[in-house]
Amino acid sequence: MKRLVLLGGGHAHLFVLEAFAREQPDAVVSLITPDALTPYSGMMPGVIAGHYDYRQACIDLAPLAARAGCALRLDAAVSLDAGQRQIRLASGELIDYDMLSIDTGSTPRIPDLPGADSRAHPVKPIGQLLERWHTARAARAAAVVGAGAAGVEIIMALHHRQPLMRCTLIDRAPHILDGLPAGLQRRVMAELARQQIDVVTEASVSGVEADAVRLADGRSIPSHFTVWATGAAAPRWLRDCGLALDPGGFIATGPTLQSLSHPEVFAAGDVATMIDSPRPKSGVFAVRAGPPLAANLLRAARGDTLQPWTPQTRALLLLACGRRHAIASRGGWSLQGDWVWRWKDRIDRAFMRRFSG
Ligand SMILES: Cc1cc2nc3c(=O)[nH]c(=O)nc-3n(C[C@H](O)[C@H](O)[C@H](O)COP(=O)(O)OP(=O)(O)OC[C@H]3O[C@@H](n4cnc5c(N)ncnc54)[C@H](O)[C@@H]3O)c2cc1C
Repeated sequence: MKRLVLLGGGHAHLFVLEAFAREQPDAVVSLITPDALTPYSGMMPGVIAGHYDYRQACIDLAPLAARAGCALRLDAAVSLDAGQRQIRLASGELIDYDMLSIDTGSTPRIPDLPGADSRAHPVKPIGQLLERWHTARAARAAAVVGAGAAGVEIIMALHHRQPLMRCTLIDRAPHILDGLPAGLQRRVMAELARQQIDVVTEASVSGVEADAVRLADGRSIPSHFTVWATGAAAPRWLRDCGLALDPGGFIATGPTLQSLSHPEVFAAGDVATMIDSPRPKSGVFAVRAGPPLAANLLRAARGDTLQPWTPQTRALLLLACGRRHAIASRGGWSLQGDWVWRWKDRIDRAFMRRFSG
Protein backbone atom coordinates (compact mmCIF):
# COMPACT_ATOMS: atom_id res chain seq x y z
CA MET A 1 0.00 0.00 0.00
CA LYS A 2 1.14 3.56 -0.70
CA ARG A 3 2.17 5.73 2.24
CA LEU A 4 0.29 9.04 2.20
CA VAL A 5 1.48 11.70 4.63
CA LEU A 6 -0.70 14.71 5.44
CA LEU A 7 1.65 17.41 6.73
CA GLY A 8 -0.01 20.15 8.82
CA GLY A 9 -3.47 20.25 10.36
CA GLY A 10 -4.55 23.33 8.41
CA HIS A 11 -7.96 24.29 7.08
CA ALA A 12 -7.73 22.31 3.80
CA HIS A 13 -6.72 19.11 5.58
CA LEU A 14 -9.87 19.24 7.73
CA PHE A 15 -11.84 18.51 4.56
CA VAL A 16 -9.39 15.77 3.59
CA LEU A 17 -9.89 14.03 6.96
CA GLU A 18 -13.66 14.43 6.61
CA ALA A 19 -13.58 12.90 3.10
CA PHE A 20 -11.32 10.03 4.22
CA ALA A 21 -13.83 9.17 6.99
CA ARG A 22 -16.44 8.68 4.23
CA GLU A 23 -14.14 6.92 1.78
CA GLN A 24 -10.90 5.25 2.86
CA PRO A 25 -8.09 5.95 0.39
CA ASP A 26 -6.01 3.10 -1.05
CA ALA A 27 -3.15 4.14 1.19
CA VAL A 28 -1.80 4.07 4.72
CA VAL A 29 -2.40 7.62 5.92
CA SER A 30 -0.70 9.61 8.66
CA LEU A 31 -1.17 13.22 9.78
CA ILE A 32 1.87 15.06 11.14
CA THR A 33 1.18 18.33 12.94
CA PRO A 34 2.60 19.85 16.15
CA ASP A 35 -0.64 20.21 18.07
CA ALA A 36 -3.88 18.22 18.11
CA LEU A 37 -5.80 21.49 18.58
CA THR A 38 -5.78 23.58 15.42
CA PRO A 39 -7.05 27.17 15.75
CA TYR A 40 -9.85 28.35 13.46
CA SER A 41 -8.62 31.78 12.37
CA GLY A 42 -12.08 33.26 11.71
CA MET A 43 -12.88 33.16 15.45
CA MET A 44 -9.49 34.24 16.84
CA PRO A 45 -10.21 38.00 16.94
CA GLY A 46 -13.37 37.00 18.86
CA VAL A 47 -11.16 35.11 21.34
CA ILE A 48 -9.04 38.23 21.91
CA ALA A 49 -12.20 40.34 22.25
CA GLY A 50 -13.54 37.89 24.86
CA HIS A 51 -16.54 36.52 22.92
CA TYR A 52 -15.17 32.95 22.78
CA ASP A 53 -12.63 31.01 24.78
CA TYR A 54 -9.60 29.60 22.98
CA ARG A 55 -10.71 25.96 23.20
CA GLN A 56 -14.09 26.91 21.65
CA ALA A 57 -12.26 28.32 18.60
CA CYS A 58 -10.03 25.28 18.05
CA ILE A 59 -10.71 22.04 16.22
CA ASP A 60 -9.52 18.82 17.85
CA LEU A 61 -7.76 16.84 15.14
CA ALA A 62 -7.56 13.61 17.17
CA PRO A 63 -11.18 12.42 16.69
CA LEU A 64 -11.15 13.61 13.04
CA ALA A 65 -7.99 11.61 12.36
CA ALA A 66 -9.39 8.56 14.19
CA ARG A 67 -12.58 8.63 12.09
CA ALA A 68 -10.45 8.93 8.95
CA GLY A 69 -8.38 5.87 9.92
CA CYS A 70 -5.34 8.12 9.97
CA ALA A 71 -2.44 7.88 12.45
CA LEU A 72 -1.86 11.21 14.21
CA ARG A 73 1.73 12.11 15.01
CA LEU A 74 2.36 15.29 17.04
CA ASP A 75 5.56 16.63 15.53
CA ALA A 76 6.68 19.25 12.98
CA ALA A 77 8.63 19.05 9.75
CA VAL A 78 11.97 20.83 9.90
CA SER A 79 13.10 19.88 6.40
CA LEU A 80 11.97 18.03 3.33
CA ASP A 81 13.95 16.22 0.66
CA ALA A 82 11.52 15.97 -2.23
CA GLY A 83 14.06 14.01 -4.33
CA GLN A 84 14.37 11.30 -1.64
CA ARG A 85 10.66 11.61 -0.68
CA GLN A 86 11.68 12.07 2.93
CA ILE A 87 10.63 14.45 5.72
CA ARG A 88 12.80 15.24 8.73
CA LEU A 89 10.84 15.94 11.91
CA ALA A 90 11.76 18.14 14.88
CA SER A 91 12.10 14.93 16.94
CA GLY A 92 14.87 13.86 14.54
CA GLU A 93 12.82 11.09 12.96
CA LEU A 94 12.87 10.60 9.18
CA ILE A 95 9.55 9.86 7.49
CA ASP A 96 9.37 8.30 4.01
CA TYR A 97 6.34 8.82 1.82
CA ASP A 98 4.95 7.83 -1.56
CA MET A 99 2.43 10.69 -1.60
CA LEU A 100 2.58 13.89 0.42
CA SER A 101 0.00 16.63 1.00
CA ILE A 102 1.25 19.86 2.61
CA ASP A 103 -1.07 22.30 4.44
CA THR A 104 1.23 23.89 7.00
CA GLY A 105 0.21 27.52 6.54
CA SER A 106 2.49 30.55 6.39
CA THR A 107 4.68 32.27 8.97
CA PRO A 108 4.66 35.96 9.94
CA ARG A 109 7.10 38.20 8.10
CA ILE A 110 9.26 39.66 10.92
CA PRO A 111 11.82 42.16 9.58
CA ASP A 112 15.39 42.49 10.76
CA LEU A 113 14.84 45.62 12.91
CA PRO A 114 16.03 46.38 16.45
CA GLY A 115 13.59 44.81 18.91
CA ALA A 116 11.25 43.38 16.27
CA ASP A 117 12.29 39.81 16.94
CA SER A 118 12.30 40.04 20.75
CA ARG A 119 9.62 42.63 21.59
CA ALA A 120 7.00 42.41 18.83
CA HIS A 121 4.51 39.55 19.10
CA PRO A 122 3.96 37.76 15.79
CA VAL A 123 0.36 37.11 14.87
CA LYS A 124 1.11 33.39 14.43
CA PRO A 125 1.09 30.92 16.07
CA ILE A 126 -2.18 32.37 17.31
CA GLY A 127 -2.10 30.30 20.54
CA GLN A 128 1.22 31.90 21.48
CA LEU A 129 -0.09 35.41 20.71
CA LEU A 130 -3.05 34.79 23.02
CA GLU A 131 -0.80 33.55 25.84
CA ARG A 132 1.35 36.67 25.54
CA TRP A 133 -1.72 38.88 25.51
CA HIS A 134 -2.96 37.27 28.74
CA THR A 135 0.29 38.23 30.45
CA ALA A 136 0.13 41.80 29.08
CA ARG A 137 -3.50 42.59 29.85
CA ALA A 138 -2.49 45.53 32.06
CA ALA A 139 -0.80 47.31 29.11
CA ARG A 140 -1.73 50.99 28.87
CA ALA A 141 -0.99 51.19 25.14
CA ALA A 142 -0.94 48.68 22.29
CA ALA A 143 -0.04 48.85 18.62
CA VAL A 144 -0.55 46.55 15.68
CA VAL A 145 1.93 46.86 12.80
CA GLY A 146 0.24 45.83 9.56
CA ALA A 147 -3.19 47.12 8.57
CA GLY A 148 -4.41 44.13 6.58
CA ALA A 149 -7.59 42.31 7.53
CA ALA A 150 -5.98 40.42 10.47
CA GLY A 151 -4.30 43.61 11.79
CA VAL A 152 -7.54 45.60 11.62
CA GLU A 153 -9.48 42.87 13.43
CA ILE A 154 -6.83 42.45 16.12
CA ILE A 155 -6.53 46.15 17.00
CA MET A 156 -10.32 46.43 17.34
CA ALA A 157 -10.41 43.24 19.45
CA LEU A 158 -7.65 44.56 21.76
CA HIS A 159 -9.50 47.86 22.10
CA HIS A 160 -12.76 46.09 22.93
CA ARG A 161 -11.04 44.01 25.63
CA GLN A 162 -9.25 47.04 27.15
CA PRO A 163 -11.27 50.16 26.23
CA LEU A 164 -8.99 52.43 28.28
CA MET A 165 -5.85 51.23 26.49
CA ARG A 166 -4.50 53.56 23.82
CA CYS A 167 -4.55 51.63 20.52
CA THR A 168 -2.68 52.44 17.30
CA LEU A 169 -2.71 50.74 13.90
CA ILE A 170 0.46 51.30 11.86
CA ASP A 171 1.14 50.60 8.19
CA ARG A 172 3.67 51.73 5.61
CA ALA A 173 1.03 51.91 2.82
CA PRO A 174 -0.94 55.14 2.29
CA HIS A 175 -4.21 53.35 3.13
CA ILE A 176 -5.31 50.59 5.48
CA LEU A 177 -6.47 47.33 3.86
CA ASP A 178 -4.18 48.04 0.93
CA GLY A 179 -5.48 46.41 -2.26
CA LEU A 180 -9.06 46.07 -0.99
CA PRO A 181 -11.90 48.28 -2.32
CA ALA A 182 -11.78 51.99 -1.44
CA GLY A 183 -15.34 51.87 -0.10
CA LEU A 184 -14.35 49.18 2.41
CA GLN A 185 -11.24 51.14 3.42
CA ARG A 186 -13.39 54.23 4.12
CA ARG A 187 -15.93 52.23 6.09
CA VAL A 188 -13.26 50.61 8.26
CA MET A 189 -11.49 53.98 8.78
CA ALA A 190 -14.82 55.42 10.02
CA GLU A 191 -15.23 52.48 12.43
CA LEU A 192 -11.66 52.89 13.74
CA ALA A 193 -12.32 56.63 14.27
CA ARG A 194 -15.57 55.81 16.09
CA GLN A 195 -13.58 53.57 18.44
CA GLN A 196 -10.89 56.28 18.82
CA ILE A 197 -8.20 53.96 17.50
CA ASP A 198 -5.30 55.95 16.03
CA VAL A 199 -4.24 55.09 12.49
CA VAL A 200 -0.73 55.93 11.29
CA THR A 201 -0.13 55.27 7.59
CA GLU A 202 2.90 55.84 5.34
CA ALA A 203 4.93 54.96 8.41
CA SER A 204 8.03 52.84 8.29
CA VAL A 205 8.89 51.14 11.59
CA SER A 206 12.55 51.45 12.56
CA GLY A 207 12.48 49.58 15.86
CA VAL A 208 10.35 48.14 18.65
CA GLU A 209 10.99 49.02 22.29
CA ALA A 210 9.35 47.80 25.49
CA ASP A 211 7.10 50.87 25.64
CA ALA A 212 7.04 52.23 22.08
CA VAL A 213 7.22 51.59 18.34
CA ARG A 214 9.83 53.82 16.73
CA LEU A 215 9.18 55.15 13.23
CA ALA A 216 11.85 56.03 10.67
CA ASP A 217 10.74 59.69 10.66
CA GLY A 218 11.60 59.97 14.38
CA ARG A 219 8.09 59.60 15.76
CA SER A 220 7.46 57.29 18.66
CA ILE A 221 4.13 55.48 19.12
CA PRO A 222 3.40 54.39 22.71
CA SER A 223 2.92 50.63 22.95
CA HIS A 224 3.51 48.10 25.72
CA PHE A 225 2.04 45.31 23.60
CA THR A 226 3.05 45.36 19.93
CA VAL A 227 1.60 42.84 17.51
CA TRP A 228 3.32 42.17 14.19
CA ALA A 229 0.75 41.42 11.46
CA THR A 230 2.45 42.36 8.20
CA GLY A 231 1.51 39.51 5.96
CA ALA A 232 2.41 35.95 5.24
CA ALA A 233 5.90 34.61 4.51
CA ALA A 234 6.79 31.11 3.31
CA PRO A 235 8.08 28.65 5.93
CA ARG A 236 11.89 28.57 6.02
CA TRP A 237 12.08 24.77 6.01
CA LEU A 238 10.88 24.76 2.38
CA ARG A 239 13.93 26.67 1.13
CA ASP A 240 16.10 23.72 0.09
CA CYS A 241 13.41 21.09 -0.29
CA GLY A 242 13.79 20.67 -4.06
CA LEU A 243 10.15 21.46 -4.86
CA ALA A 244 9.37 24.19 -7.41
CA LEU A 245 8.68 27.38 -5.43
CA ASP A 246 7.18 30.73 -6.47
CA PRO A 247 9.33 33.90 -6.07
CA GLY A 248 8.05 34.29 -2.50
CA GLY A 249 9.21 30.78 -1.57
CA PHE A 250 5.71 29.22 -1.50
CA ILE A 251 5.11 25.80 -3.14
CA ALA A 252 4.17 26.29 -6.81
CA THR A 253 1.17 24.16 -7.73
CA GLY A 254 -0.94 23.53 -10.80
CA PRO A 255 -4.74 23.28 -11.10
CA THR A 256 -4.78 19.74 -9.64
CA LEU A 257 -3.03 21.11 -6.50
CA GLN A 258 0.07 19.04 -7.35
CA SER A 259 3.55 20.48 -7.12
CA LEU A 260 4.75 21.69 -10.52
CA SER A 261 7.98 19.73 -10.06
CA HIS A 262 6.93 16.65 -8.03
CA PRO A 263 3.47 15.28 -8.93
CA GLU A 264 3.40 13.00 -5.86
CA VAL A 265 3.37 16.15 -3.68
CA PHE A 266 0.16 18.15 -3.21
CA ALA A 267 -0.10 21.49 -1.39
CA ALA A 268 -2.96 23.82 -0.43
CA GLY A 269 -3.69 26.81 1.78
CA ASP A 270 -1.25 29.60 2.60
CA VAL A 271 1.82 27.40 1.98
CA ALA A 272 0.99 27.03 -1.73
CA THR A 273 0.51 29.31 -4.72
CA MET A 274 -1.57 28.14 -7.68
CA ILE A 275 0.62 29.57 -10.41
CA ASP A 276 -2.17 29.99 -13.01
CA SER A 277 -4.74 31.35 -10.57
CA PRO A 278 -3.02 32.87 -7.51
CA ARG A 279 -5.32 34.03 -4.71
CA PRO A 280 -4.72 35.97 -1.47
CA LYS A 281 -3.28 34.00 1.44
CA SER A 282 -6.45 33.69 3.48
CA GLY A 283 -8.43 31.11 5.38
CA VAL A 284 -11.31 31.42 2.91
CA PHE A 285 -9.19 30.09 0.05
CA ALA A 286 -7.55 27.40 2.23
CA VAL A 287 -11.07 26.20 3.07
CA ARG A 288 -12.15 26.29 -0.60
CA ALA A 289 -9.18 24.16 -1.60
CA GLY A 290 -10.12 21.42 0.88
CA PRO A 291 -12.75 19.44 -1.09
CA PRO A 292 -10.86 19.42 -4.45
CA LEU A 293 -7.66 18.46 -2.62
CA ALA A 294 -9.45 15.56 -0.88
CA ALA A 295 -10.98 14.36 -4.15
CA ASN A 296 -7.64 14.44 -5.98
CA LEU A 297 -5.80 12.65 -3.16
CA LEU A 298 -8.41 9.85 -3.34
CA ARG A 299 -8.05 9.71 -7.15
CA ALA A 300 -4.25 9.72 -6.99
CA ALA A 301 -4.23 6.89 -4.42
CA ARG A 302 -6.44 4.83 -6.78
CA GLY A 303 -4.29 5.74 -9.79
CA ASP A 304 -7.19 7.62 -11.46
CA THR A 305 -6.94 10.79 -13.56
CA LEU A 306 -6.96 13.96 -11.44
CA GLN A 307 -9.45 16.81 -11.90
CA PRO A 308 -8.35 20.45 -12.30
CA TRP A 309 -9.85 23.09 -10.01
CA THR A 310 -10.09 26.87 -10.38
CA PRO A 311 -10.73 28.84 -7.18
CA GLN A 312 -13.40 31.53 -7.33
CA THR A 313 -12.04 35.01 -7.90
CA ARG A 314 -14.06 36.83 -5.25
CA ALA A 315 -14.67 35.86 -1.67
CA LEU A 316 -16.86 37.23 1.10
CA LEU A 317 -14.76 39.10 3.67
CA LEU A 318 -16.25 39.35 7.17
CA LEU A 319 -14.32 41.66 9.51
CA ALA A 320 -15.05 41.49 13.23
CA CYS A 321 -15.03 44.97 14.83
CA GLY A 322 -14.15 44.13 18.44
CA ARG A 323 -17.65 44.52 19.86
CA ARG A 324 -20.40 42.24 18.49
CA HIS A 325 -20.46 44.19 15.23
CA ALA A 326 -18.93 43.27 11.86
CA ILE A 327 -18.32 44.55 8.35
CA ALA A 328 -19.03 42.42 5.26
CA SER A 329 -17.45 43.04 1.88
CA ARG A 330 -17.63 41.27 -1.45
CA GLY A 331 -16.41 42.72 -4.74
CA GLY A 332 -17.20 46.44 -4.68
CA TRP A 333 -19.88 46.51 -1.95
CA SER A 334 -19.69 46.51 1.80
CA LEU A 335 -22.11 46.85 4.71
CA GLN A 336 -22.00 46.60 8.46
CA GLY A 337 -24.09 46.02 11.54
CA ASP A 338 -24.62 43.97 14.66
CA TRP A 339 -26.59 41.58 12.45
CA VAL A 340 -23.46 41.07 10.28
CA TRP A 341 -21.63 39.91 13.42
CA ARG A 342 -24.46 37.47 14.22
CA TRP A 343 -24.31 36.23 10.62
CA LYS A 344 -20.52 35.74 10.88
CA ASP A 345 -20.96 34.06 14.26
CA ARG A 346 -23.45 31.58 12.75
CA ILE A 347 -21.08 30.78 9.85
CA ASP A 348 -18.13 30.30 12.22
CA ARG A 349 -20.06 28.12 14.67
CA ALA A 350 -21.41 25.99 11.78
CA PHE A 351 -17.82 25.47 10.60
CA MET A 352 -16.76 24.41 14.09
CA ARG A 353 -19.74 22.04 14.45
CA ARG A 354 -18.97 20.43 11.10
CA PHE A 355 -15.50 19.42 12.26
CA SER A 356 -16.32 18.74 15.90
CA GLY A 357 -18.47 15.72 15.10
C1 LIG B 1 -5.68 36.85 13.80
C2 LIG B 1 -5.99 36.32 12.42
C3 LIG B 1 -7.27 36.42 11.92
C4 LIG B 1 -7.55 35.93 10.64
N1 LIG B 1 -8.84 36.02 10.21
C5 LIG B 1 -9.13 35.53 9.00
C6 LIG B 1 -10.47 35.58 8.53
O1 LIG B 1 -11.38 36.07 9.21
N2 LIG B 1 -10.73 35.07 7.29
C7 LIG B 1 -9.74 34.52 6.53
O2 LIG B 1 -10.04 34.08 5.40
N3 LIG B 1 -8.46 34.46 6.94
C8 LIG B 1 -8.13 34.94 8.15
N4 LIG B 1 -6.84 34.88 8.58
C9 LIG B 1 -5.83 34.22 7.73
C10 LIG B 1 -5.87 32.71 8.01
O3 LIG B 1 -5.49 32.48 9.35
C11 LIG B 1 -4.91 31.90 7.16
O4 LIG B 1 -4.97 32.32 5.83
C12 LIG B 1 -5.32 30.42 7.24
O5 LIG B 1 -5.20 29.96 8.57
C13 LIG B 1 -4.46 29.57 6.33
O6 LIG B 1 -4.89 28.24 6.47
P1 LIG B 1 -3.89 27.06 6.18
O7 LIG B 1 -4.72 25.82 6.11
O8 LIG B 1 -3.04 27.38 5.03
O9 LIG B 1 -2.91 26.99 7.43
P2 LIG B 1 -3.12 27.16 8.98
O10 LIG B 1 -4.51 27.39 9.35
O11 LIG B 1 -2.09 28.13 9.42
O12 LIG B 1 -2.74 25.71 9.55
C14 LIG B 1 -1.43 25.21 9.44
C15 LIG B 1 -1.32 23.95 10.26
O13 LIG B 1 -0.06 23.35 10.02
C16 LIG B 1 0.63 23.11 11.24
N5 LIG B 1 2.05 23.29 10.98
C17 LIG B 1 2.72 24.46 10.86
N6 LIG B 1 4.03 24.23 10.60
C18 LIG B 1 4.17 22.88 10.53
C19 LIG B 1 5.28 22.03 10.28
N7 LIG B 1 6.50 22.51 10.08
N8 LIG B 1 5.06 20.69 10.28
C20 LIG B 1 3.84 20.20 10.50
N9 LIG B 1 2.75 20.96 10.73
C21 LIG B 1 2.91 22.28 10.76
C22 LIG B 1 0.05 24.16 12.20
O14 LIG B 1 0.20 23.74 13.55
C23 LIG B 1 -1.42 24.19 11.76
O15 LIG B 1 -2.13 23.12 12.33
C24 LIG B 1 -6.52 35.35 9.85
C25 LIG B 1 -5.24 35.27 10.35
C26 LIG B 1 -4.96 35.73 11.62
C27 LIG B 1 -3.55 35.60 12.14
